[in-house]
Formats: sequence, C-alpha cells, structure tokens
Amino acid sequence: MLVRAYIGLGSNLQNPLFQIQNALVALGQIPQTELVRHSRLYRSRPMGPVDQPDFVNAVAALDTQLDAYALLSELQSIEQQQGRVRGVLRWGPRTLDLDLLLYGDEQITTEQLTIPHPGLLQRSFVLHPLYEIVPDLQFASGELLAELAKNHPDDELEILDAAEIHR
Ligand code: ATP
Ligand code: CA
Ligand code: CA
Repeated sequence: MLVRAYIGLGSNLQNPLFQIQNALVALGQIPQTELVRHSRLYRSRPMGPVDQPDFVNAVAALDTQLDAYALLSELQSIEQQQGRVRGVLRWGPRTLDLDLLLYGDEQITTEQLTIPHPGLLQRSFVLHPLYEIVPDLQFASGELLAELAKNHPDDELEILDAAEIHR
C-alpha cells in the first residue's frame, strides 16, 4: 500500500542550506519510497528560550510503502548520517531534524511516535511550507491547513531565493 507522508526538515548548524539540500536528496533515496515534491527553503527564528542560530526549514511529500515506524527509522538514520548529536537540550541546535508530520490519515500515539506530529498545528515554519505544497489539505480532525496557516503569522519566515541557495 502506498501512503502519502509529509516530512518537516530543519537545520541550524554546519551550513544549514547544505544540510537541507543534502537531506532532500537522501529522502529521495529511502527504499520503497518516492520523493513527490518539496517546498522552497525558509529561514526561521529558533523557537524556545535557547540562544542559537536561525533555522532553515522545508517540508517534503513522500509516497512510501514503508510503515510509519520503518519510515521514522529511515529518517533517524539520515539525521545520524548528517551528524545529528542527540544532546540533553530539547529544541537545541542541530545539523538536521526530520519530523514525520503526517502519515496518510493515520493517528498514532505511542512512546516512539506521535502522528500527526504534535508541533504541526502550532508552528509557522511547518504550516507555511506545508501549505505551499498542499494548499487544500484537510486534517483528519476536520481542520483546514489554509485556515491554520492564515492564523499563524509568517512575518518571521523568509523564503530563501535561488541566488542565496547557490551562493
Ligand atoms: P519536536 O518533536 O517538538 O519537534 P525535536 O524534533 O527536537 O522536538 P527530537 O529530539 O528530534 O525532538 O525527537 C525526540 C523523539 O521524538 C524521537 O526519538 C522520536 O521517537 C519521537 N517522535 C515522536 N513522534 C515523532 C514524529 N512524528 N516524528 C519524529 N519523531 C517523533
Ligand atoms: Ca522537530
Ligand atoms: Ca525531531
């Protein structure tokens, strides 16, 4: 069975633009999975109390035959390949963060995996890139992505243009 999944990408260490572009290539190489499309790259301010560099964020759509846990494990191995160190600090700086935002219409609540991703509905840096690639998305809860995106300011988000990306 083919399931449409959405992945949130984030990086704020060791050349975040490069990290995100590399990760998009790696997402396309996950077995039994196809990278359908991805958003532009966005610069965002870090959330939480920690003083750390700005993030580069994006969202990608995948079609996959993997189950949600196998997909999560693939995402974690990409994080590791790109030098992710799991520190004690929640929401601290990282070379790469790959969050499984949605996996079809499934709702999962286990210790390892919560889907939809708990931050999805609150975070501008996820809502706006997701809206860019799937503007008509309706969540299983009935909420419309378009409404949520409208209600979450994007003034701290900056779209990175091609010139900046290839610099
Ligand atoms: P947040 O989840 O609030 O964005 P974070 O990305 O910094 O914070 P991590 O340290 O990357 O959190 O992940 C902690 C754990 O979250 C992982 O070990 C993973 O098992 C679990 N997790 C639960 N649900 C998900 C999900 N939907 N996508 C990715 N990881 C998840
Ligand atoms: Ca995250
Ligand atoms: Ca994560």
